[in-house]
Amino acid sequence: MTNKKYFIGNWKMFGDFNSFKIIKKINQFCTNSKKYKVVLCVPNTLIHFFNKKLKFKNIYLGAQNCHHADTYGAYTGSVSAYMLKKTGAEYIILGHSENRQSGDTNSIIKKKIESSLKQKLNIIFCIGENLAERRNKKTLIVLRKQIKYCIEKKYNLNKIIIAYEPVWSIGTNKILKNKELEKIIRFIKKEYRDKFKTKSFPKVLYGGSVNQKNISQLSLVRELDGFLIGGASQSSKKFIDIIKNYYK
Ligand code: PEP
Repeated sequence: MTNKKYFIGNWKMFGDFNSFKIIKKINQFCTNSKKYKVVLCVPNTLIHFFNKKLKFKNIYLGAQNCHHADTYGAYTGSVSAYMLKKTGAEYIILGHSENRQSGDTNSIIKKKIESSLKQKLNIIFCIGENLAERRNKKTLIVLRKQIKYCIEKKYNLNKIIIAYEPVWSIGTNKILKNKELEKIIRFIKKEYRDKFKTKSFPKVLYGGSVNQKNISQLSLVRELDGFLIGGASQSSKKFIDIIKNYYK
């Protein structure tokens, strides 16, 4: 796995063919970056189109979720990891809290991870506590469980990046103080390494209301390997400013 920082965009339910101009500007900005890697996880309807339109690719494209079945099946409206891989996706977000809220359990997410690994997709595995869990001081217990029930030692762990996204921070403009964030990121890395007996620590990103202003503060958290950026990734200017300000 790379030592570059990750800046991963999660477009959520946003974008049409005209949105290529956003991708194009970000792609132009990312020429020859030795320091960071940019991945844009866009709606399934756009992956193939963007992939074909980008002549020189400085960025990677990803999907935001999949059905857990391996290939095809009677699952109206769903798309498998196999089908997403065929569109040109190289990454996939799994376990996002918005999908957990609409029914994804740890065991379903685990199946999705397995079917995505079969397709050799790189996985951005989201974990995070909700507000009630935080208030009840259950954050670390929740994170431990999410890791334990979704990942196995036998998996190709090099293909899994963890994104710590406190649910209460997504789209709210609320972020953790650096000290607490550092503690949690250290916990995740140690927990993962101890549990799966890996030689190195996993890559861990932070996600939740990251923007062009708070990135300077977040850049001081040395334990972080990058960021998962939702709303702000829908604007090329905001997304590029996040990267620029990170390195200021
Ligand atoms: C997300 O949805 O993964 C996310 C981090 O959203 P936002 O940046 O908008 O809080």
